[in-house]
Amino acid sequence: MGTQSGDADVIVIGGGIAGVAAALRLKDRGLEPLVLEAESRVGGRMTTDRVNGFVIDRGVTLLGNGFVRMRSLVRRLGLSPLVGTGSFSVGIQDAAGCRGYRSGRFEDLLFDRGISLRTRVACLRFGFDLLRHHRALVHGRSILTGSLDGEDARTYFRRIGGEEVFERIFRPGLNGPVGGSVETSSRVILMQVIWNLLVRGQWTLADGVDRIPETMASQVRVVTEARVLHVEQRPKGVQVEAEVKGKQQTLRARAVIFAIPGQLVPELCPQLPADLRELLSRTQYSRIANAAVALSNPPSVPYAGYAFTPDVVPGAEIEMEHLRAPNRCPEGAGMAGVFLWNTPEFCRLDANDESVKQQACEIVEQTFPECRGKVLFVHLVRWNIGIAQFPPGRLREMTALRKRLAAWDFPFDLCGDYLDGLSSEGALRTGEESADRMAVKLAK
Ligand SMILES: Cc1cc2nc3c(=O)[nH]c(=O)nc-3n(C[C@H](O)[C@H](O)[C@H](O)COP(=O)(O)OP(=O)(O)OC[C@H]3O[C@@H](n4cnc5c(N)ncnc54)[C@H](O)[C@@H]3O)c2cc1C
Repeated sequence: MGTQSGDADVIVIGGGIAGVAAALRLKDRGLEPLVLEAESRVGGRMTTDRVNGFVIDRGVTLLGNGFVRMRSLVRRLGLSPLVGTGSFSVGIQDAAGCRGYRSGRFEDLLFDRGISLRTRVACLRFGFDLLRHHRALVHGRSILTGSLDGEDARTYFRRIGGEEVFERIFRPGLNGPVGGSVETSSRVILMQVIWNLLVRGQWTLADGVDRIPETMASQVRVVTEARVLHVEQRPKGVQVEAEVKGKQQTLRARAVIFAIPGQLVPELCPQLPADLRELLSRTQYSRIANAAVALSNPPSVPYAGYAFTPDVVPGAEIEMEHLRAPNRCPEGAGMAGVFLWNTPEFCRLDANDESVKQQACEIVEQTFPECRGKVLFVHLVRWNIGIAQFPPGRLREMTALRKRLAAWDFPFDLCGDYLDGLSSEGALRTGEESADRMAVKLAK
């Protein structure tokens, strides 16, 4: 095993979608990568559990029609027969009742009699802004988003006269996807999510999204249960200390790509310049839990997702998984994915597992009383590093960092969702970009 200079040309630390994408691209460019993944399987937040005949995506479930790199990889990997394109709709429950919106159907907003004329005009203005900036909203092109990254989502909607649409629709409807921080997120992040997932529509894989990173990983060298502890630049390349299946090992390569959340990088590599360590240590993720409530007999409901204003149910939303990703449950059964996060008033995630599962069941039964007595089991997944956070200005900092990395002399590079937005497509693209930069560097 290994190359002239050590165990690999490039060691990729982290086997999430960004890491495996970086490795595959390095291989395409004639280099020999080695992925070191701390867990017992690759995929990171793009993994799937299979429990009692139910297919449960732990993190990523929906892939947007705007995720063109992911889609072309799926074709390359021979996974296209698994692609399913269900339609998505969300019901928003407030004290007055439930109103529904279908993805890709802007008219549902424009002709919504429940909102004022002023708000409908603001929706038109928002739609115009989306169209005007759509090129910059595609993941991987966030380098073009600088001018949009100056204000938070709430301030933006207030400025265009859309307080009502924000408070009644986008705030409850998008709080889950952005990890509970919709008010403080940069408006560009909200626009990215709306454009790539809601306006353009979504797809997923019938058998679970983990097929994508797993198939990619089967084409490159990967060591699982390999937790990297320390990385150091040496006169000839880099040295990596890792705990591999319980044993300490030293590995050598010409370069390293860090494909792990940014805030974890500085402690692994104290040699990085102080300003870069400071920038990375400010990377933030929100905590989130995904409690999959398996139902023997799902309720007959009109929408695939249910979101709530905080007075109805704070810090939670429901995704009817058998509707948004069909063929994931045994015949006749269903699954309500309850996403839970902490709010300033309500710390849902601080409870123990049994109590979080109980909360999830109660939310399902409160929303759909006909589900009482039909819960088969609850499968709980907690993410302490869940959804990347982008307050105004953070995406601009990250795009500046990506430009800087291209001109960097160190044998190090970085990738991961925190550099491009909060989606798997952004993570994938940063992985490929980091491999391209590294290949150019190593060719010199
Ligand atoms: C609940 C939830 C739902 C989501 N839903 C969607 C969705 O529907 N659509 C979408 O596009 N995105 C979604 N996302 C976001 C998406 O999951 C991420 O953007 C993407 O998967 C991030 O990939 P990554 O490779 O950057 O990071 P990760 O997937 O976190 O990969 C990092 C990897 O590094 C490993 N690692 C960490 N430290 C070390 C170390 N010291 N040594 C070795 N390995 C290490 C970790 O084990 C992990 O496997 C969701 C996220 C969550 C949490």
